Amino acid sequence: MENEVPPEEAAETPPEDLAAAEQVYRALRERMVQEQLIARGIQDQRVLAAMRHVPRHRFVPAEYRHLAYADGPLPIGAGQTISQPYVVALMTQLLELQGPERVLEIGTGSGYQTAVLAELVAEVYTVEYQPILAEQAQERLQALGYRNVWFRQGDGSLGWQEHAPYDAVLVTAAAPDVPLPLREQTMLGGRLVLPVGGRWGQRLERWRHLENDGWLREHFGPVAFVPLRGQHGWQEDFW
Ligand code: SAH
Repeated sequence: MENEVPPEEAAETPPEDLAAAEQVYRALRERMVQEQLIARGIQDQRVLAAMRHVPRHRFVPAEYRHLAYADGPLPIGAGQTISQPYVVALMTQLLELQGPERVLEIGTGSGYQTAVLAELVAEVYTVEYQPILAEQAQERLQALGYRNVWFRQGDGSLGWQEHAPYDAVLVTAAAPDVPLPLREQTMLGGRLVLPVGGRWGQRLERWRHLENDGWLREHFGPVAFVPLRGQHGWQEDFW
């Protein structure tokens, strides 16, 4: 999987250089896992293995590829960003995934978080608002060989009712409040992880759907995401 390269690069670059580049990326990835994730307390071994494996450099625009394993978010076009590796790891860890789950992700973006999820669970359903990003992410993940991901372009603040309920739901854009449809589509015992708040910052929240149909709401510190749009998101005037 990691030796696949985009056709435009394959045409120009000799195979031995591509293999050498992949070696460098693998080393950078290991360093990212050690210094950005393990050092800051990410402990879920399956999450660490997934992030060692997914080629993050394939998810960022060519002009930022040298920064693919740096400790921050990066632009991915259409005014959106790929999240910082630590935030991806933390949110994924908070979902408490074991393997057999079906997960709903809102905000496909580059598809990087989607790929991390696809490494960890049986099925991933992902929704992206921006048509161009939705299309590119789908092509990218298919080229990388992921076969357990279903894509949809549209308003993810409404969830994806057709395949509900989900064991876990992850929102990677900032919501003014927890969208009701996403709560309704999280099964009993399931987890919903999302950033809640406005333009000047949000806090990471986990909502656990208890077996008695109540909710346990927990907070995990400040984060900074782009806005969730759509019916249960931010209107342009407010962000
Ligand atoms: N997880 C992504 C980061 C995405 S940034 C990655 O790893 O690259 C947040 C994404 O949420 C953006 O692509 C944005 O277009 C998308 N988004 C915003 N509102 C949305 C909505 N209502 N439904 C689906 N996607 C939405």
